[in-house]
Amino acid sequence: MSGQSNGSASINGRHGANGNGAPRKPCLRVIPLGGLHEIGKNTCVFEYGDDIMLVDAGLAFPSDGMHGVNVVMPDTSYLKENQKRIRGMIVTHGHEDHIGGIAHHLKNFNIPVIHGPRLALAMLSGKMEEAGVMDRTILQTVAPRDVVKVGQHFSVEFIRNTHSMADSFSLAITTPVGTVIFTGDFKFDHTPVDGETFDMARLAHYGEQGVLCLFSDSTNAEIPGFCPPERSVFPCLDRHISQAEGRVIITTFASSIHRVAMILELALKNGRKVGLLGRSMLNVIAKARELGYMRAPDDLFVPIKQIRDLPDRETLLLMTGSQGEPLAALSRISRCEHPQVQVKSSDTIIFSASPIPGNTISVVNTIDRLMMLGAKVIYGKGEGIHVSGHGFQEDQKLMLALTRPKFFVPVHGEHRMLVAHAKTGHSMGIPTENTLIIDNGDVVELTADSIRKGDPVKAGIELLDASRNGIVDARVLKERQQLAEDGVITLLAVVSTDGVMAAPPRVNLRGVVTAADPRKLSLWAEREITWVLENRWQQLSRNSGGKAPDVDWMGVQREIEIGLQRRLRRELQVEPLIICLVQPAPGGTPAYKGRADAEPDSRPAPRGGRGGARDGGRDGGRDRAPQPRRELVAVAAAPATAAAAAVAAPAPAPTPAAAPEPEIAGRTRRRRSAAAAG
Ligand SMILES: [Zn+2]
Ligand SMILES: [Zn+2]
Repeated sequence: MSGQSNGSASINGRHGANGNGAPRKPCLRVIPLGGLHEIGKNTCVFEYGDDIMLVDAGLAFPSDGMHGVNVVMPDTSYLKENQKRIRGMIVTHGHEDHIGGIAHHLKNFNIPVIHGPRLALAMLSGKMEEAGVMDRTILQTVAPRDVVKVGQHFSVEFIRNTHSMADSFSLAITTPVGTVIFTGDFKFDHTPVDGETFDMARLAHYGEQGVLCLFSDSTNAEIPGFCPPERSVFPCLDRHISQAEGRVIITTFASSIHRVAMILELALKNGRKVGLLGRSMLNVIAKARELGYMRAPDDLFVPIKQIRDLPDRETLLLMTGSQGEPLAALSRISRCEHPQVQVKSSDTIIFSASPIPGNTISVVNTIDRLMMLGAKVIYGKGEGIHVSGHGFQEDQKLMLALTRPKFFVPVHGEHRMLVAHAKTGHSMGIPTENTLIIDNGDVVELTADSIRKGDPVKAGIELLDASRNGIVDARVLKERQQLAEDGVITLLAVVSTDGVMAAPPRVNLRGVVTAADPRKLSLWAEREITWVLENRWQQLSRNSGGKAPDVDWMGVQREIEIGLQRRLRRELQVEPLIICLVQPAPGGTPAYKGRADAEPDSRPAPRGGRGGARDGGRDGGRDRAPQPRRELVAVAAAPATAAAAAVAAPAPAPTPAAAPEPEIAGRTRRRRSAAAAG
């Protein structure tokens, strides 16, 4: 695809650095840095000439195996490199996957102004305050049909849409090459809970004028039909609440403003007082009530400490934890770890949300625990207690029909959803060549009459720990996975500056499950140290003219770690984290006469070709005869007989462990890819 890069369609001036040649037609570049091939961290870059405009900047939640990772952010190297050109940002609505990244990004690069809906910006300002970046940008609220100008080249109209979040917008972005419709998250809900209907007339207006390209929400592209309206859950919830004998406990996303508003309405209708649990539930409801997106009398709410004094039949607890998040209120209650609320067998617990893919296991575990405590738990699709905030196929068709775009790019979804959405587009007459399925970091280049993929920019993920400041990089993540799965081995080696082992190595195991006896482990460690000193010492130490040679001790440690790791993987089928510490001893320290050569080593660890690079040439040394081993006495007079025997013959002693290596390698690879996924 990038092979067409000298075609007539062009890239903008900034990339014209190669100087010579044909005049380039300026084009609009649209670069999603997140939100594709996943649900989460939606972050999109619009670029024309010298202007960059951002649309949304969200976060995603970690997948299993991302130990100690709190949130996942997109890699924003591209924005950091180009921050001088960032003119502003547009926010479509207040969901975490659209605004959750902004406070973090403001620490790293400047965004002069952010335009967005009142509710989203109110939620954002709370996050910015917490992060201490209030002074880094200007927040500008917009009303439906407001038009804002960003930089020289973009003007953006906010078109009211309907979604599970109140105050949500689709965008009409007018650029020098034409108008782009960016749907944001949407479904067509003709009876919205707050009465704010989808401004379809405005979409149709742009469709009539001519839309260059549609970027549309693909979340439910695999589901036929229309998405049911949010109101449809009202009678189902009402039935369960009115029939409940004891307390009602409901969990949903705090940010599903319409759902929360309906639950409050139902509490009032059924004569129940409401207790709120969970920080985000308290925050969002306070913000939404303050701004008038939710109407509920003050005396509907009772502090959680006093709610115990009310009869169960007059109590409704609304809380976080619909996704089984370990620290959320309902999860803690299910583990009997909540200080204020314990489950009673008369409780009715309602999950008014469906698990985000990846959270399913923790959600069903929570349901199991609650049931085991005796509660009646209502969950699942058949109950009519949850509907999606994202349109199904027919909603998506309606969007295509209203906007009638020339080009079409499905966004906001996993790969198969993008493919399904593209198919829907084709079924409505959009030619295949006018549709692009793209990935994060891909560059969509649009002119008035062409669409194509340009050379991609850097994209990926950045993992943040609980502090949201510390970045968990890929190496740290791999180490944590090793620690969690196979434990840790520490190895202390004493090596003199002239490259001899000066004391027996000390090996320590923590969390490692193995049948191998400790003697064997220290023997293996000894062998790896010996091997490194014999085969790598020359590269790792340099005689710079001084008294003692310059030794790359880190390199020595790394080599020993790699060797021991390979051996353990092969011999014991475990892959613990190995930490080798080398304690340097002065030159001339007498050598420790190891046991390494006391028994022949029939299976020297295979070594990769290129300086033992991790995983490089996994089987590099397999067919080679064992490396000749030099006796490690300072004055190598006569090799001991056992050593000589080891040198002479690649000992035939068969080891039963010979077969499983490919399998183990396979297992390792699977684990890694499982970790990398998401
Ligand atoms: Zn949303
Ligand atoms: Zn979204």
